[in-house]
Amino acid sequence: MNEFDLIRHYFATQGQHRPDVRIGIGDDAAIVRAPRGHELAITTDTLVGNVHFSPNDLPADIGHKALAVNLSDLAAMGATPAWITLAITLPEADDKWLQGFSQGLFTLANRYHVQLIGGDVTRGPLSITIQAIGFTPIDKALLRSGAQPGDNIYVTGTIGDAGLGLRASQSHLNLRLDYQQAVLEKLHRPEPRIIIGEQLRNIASAAIDISDGLAADLNHILEESKVGAVIILSALPLSEALTHSLPADEAIMLALTAGDDYELCFTIPPDKAIEAEKILSQLSCRYTCIGTITSETRLTLQDEQGNIYHDAIPGYRHF
Ligand code: ADP
Ligand code: MG
Repeated sequence: MNEFDLIRHYFATQGQHRPDVRIGIGDDAAIVRAPRGHELAITTDTLVGNVHFSPNDLPADIGHKALAVNLSDLAAMGATPAWITLAITLPEADDKWLQGFSQGLFTLANRYHVQLIGGDVTRGPLSITIQAIGFTPIDKALLRSGAQPGDNIYVTGTIGDAGLGLRASQSHLNLRLDYQQAVLEKLHRPEPRIIIGEQLRNIASAAIDISDGLAADLNHILEESKVGAVIILSALPLSEALTHSLPADEAIMLALTAGDDYELCFTIPPDKAIEAEKILSQLSCRYTCIGTITSETRLTLQDEQGNIYHDAIPGYRHF
């Protein structure tokens, strides 16, 4: 199978035809129409075999996750996703792998009406780069830089589960079977919080997605906004799987430092709290207030006994 057959067979088969795509796969570049009164949000992320996933992972999971991490970045900007490109490097053209990969990719893409509009195929060690493009009304994107002292800090879902899933898949950590399934699902199939991001556009003062761990990612908001935060450790939303599998302090440490959860962390000014809770409570996603933005520019952790910690907590770093 040559490169063109491969593209035609696995990637030109999505069946999603957005009216704003004038030229999709097949020409030298795609041509799309941005909606009037909107600006584009553009992001890209690469997943490298043996670094971001194990070659033994299900190809459908890899396809899902490669897209999910990109859509999560758009969600954190409050953007509505529209188009993606896919640059994929493959050691070989394995039919079963490509079938699974494109099925995982397209199932998630179709859920959010996202269309694959182009890409590139090369031979080499397995690596997947997706670029995702979305849009927001002009000046309405959620930035990292807007948090103000007094704002409440929220996270969606539960955190630390993907970290527990990674530990369970790398070591002989013995989890109860249903817990193991739940945390592996979270690790392999994160759900980008697109709808929440869109709903937060006029309400949140800052937002970020949790890819490197809550402490590290919240720190980006603090640095960009030139503020600090107090996090109440007992308020962190931990799953039953996490609290029942690890001692309390280890569970909290994982929730603070483990990446790959792809939940949103966002800040809400006090005068928008009621409106925010009203909107968020109508969405089928858990959300939890975990602390407050402060003018003192550091991250403070407070436990149930009132003890306070200022130590810097590392997140995942590639270098
Ligand atoms: P060119 O040589 O002009 O860059 P290619 O031969 O790389 O074109 O690709 C042909 C067409 O197929 C282009 O429209 C390109 O965007 C698309 N394409 C290539 N790889 C992929 C892919 N992995 N997924 C989707 N579309 C792809
Ligand atoms: Mg090309």
